Amino acid sequence: MAGVTADRCPGVLRPHQAADGAMVRVRVPGGRTSGLQLAALGAAARRHGSGLLQLTSRASLQVRGLPEVLPDAFEAAVAAAGLLPSTSRERVRNVVCSPLTGLVGGLADQRPLVGALDAALLTAPGLGELSGRFLLGLDDGRGDVAALTPDLTYLATGPDRGLLVVGAGHARPVAQDDAVAAMVALARAFVGAAAASGAWRVRDLPGWAASVAEPLAVPLPAPPVLPLGRVDRHAVVAVPLGLLAPDQLAAVVDAAAGGPVVLTPWRGLVVPEAADRLPDLVEVGLVAETASPWTAISACVGAPWCANGRVDTRALVQSVAGLSARWGRTHVSGCERRCGAPTGTHVDLVAPSRDELLALARPELVPHG
Ligand code: SF4
Repeated sequence: MAGVTADRCPGVLRPHQAADGAMVRVRVPGGRTSGLQLAALGAAARRHGSGLLQLTSRASLQVRGLPEVLPDAFEAAVAAAGLLPSTSRERVRNVVCSPLTGLVGGLADQRPLVGALDAALLTAPGLGELSGRFLLGLDDGRGDVAALTPDLTYLATGPDRGLLVVGAGHARPVAQDDAVAAMVALARAFVGAAAASGAWRVRDLPGWAASVAEPLAVPLPAPPVLPLGRVDRHAVVAVPLGLLAPDQLAAVVDAAAGGPVVLTPWRGLVVPEAADRLPDLVEVGLVAETASPWTAISACVGAPWCANGRVDTRALVQSVAGLSARWGRTHVSGCERRCGAPTGTHVDLVAPSRDELLALARPELVPHG
């Protein structure tokens, strides 16, 4: 069982020492942040680290290339940006939410639930003992977040009702107004049930889901493909390799004009009311076309940033992303840990050669343009 070893999940105050320097993870519940917060974190990343902001598959942000001992000024900058509201519970704020909720589509606006759930994670008794890997999901009914199989997911089935899905195969009906209280109660129950084994996640504790919920009576909705480009009045872009460079960040901050920005669990960004700014975002290399290879191919950071990496995964993927080819969903990892691999069906390549990668897309390979 994974949970019997120590939970070393990184946080702002618990850096991971990587080959390219210390790396910290900044939780962003629901992926909901703002241009102002991103600008502040980007400035701290440039001053103290590599300058990149890395988007994760949980809609969090990572800062890399930091000194082994984090400067107090870095932590102070993150806190001043409102991204470190707790020093004792920062790592339990793992909440993903349908990125377009309240903007376009969906059966219910889940944005208010993000704040309420985060407040509970920060203050409710017992929740500080959740592992840094326990994931809570808020799905507005379109099925995008439920497909990530969080440990607990509130899935709207109407404007005022839904299902509280436990793990992958059990659920109980819950009203929208009661969703946060019900999730908090179950998360607390999990902490108690997992105490003896040290389990991190629902799937680590066999039988627990069945003890608190009924088997799912109907299949979960098939997850949609997150649209890219102009979506109503909003701009939606993918970030190649999930690495947001300073010039890209500046374009996002400019487009957001101080307003909200939503990070997606698919390493993308929603900039509300900024559809007219899409050309500026595309100009700096952000992706607004669903046919782009960058929507199909992803990679862990690999060598040389990660000491476990046997290949430079980023260089490998960059070397083929400029080719027009019919890629299926593909993830390239530098070792068997498969960091950042998608949860759905995909081609799983571990430390491949370039020829092995290219073989997947033959014979359509031609340079773009
Ligand atoms: S999959 Fe392996 S090489 Fe890639 S980031 Fe994770 S530990 Fe490093």
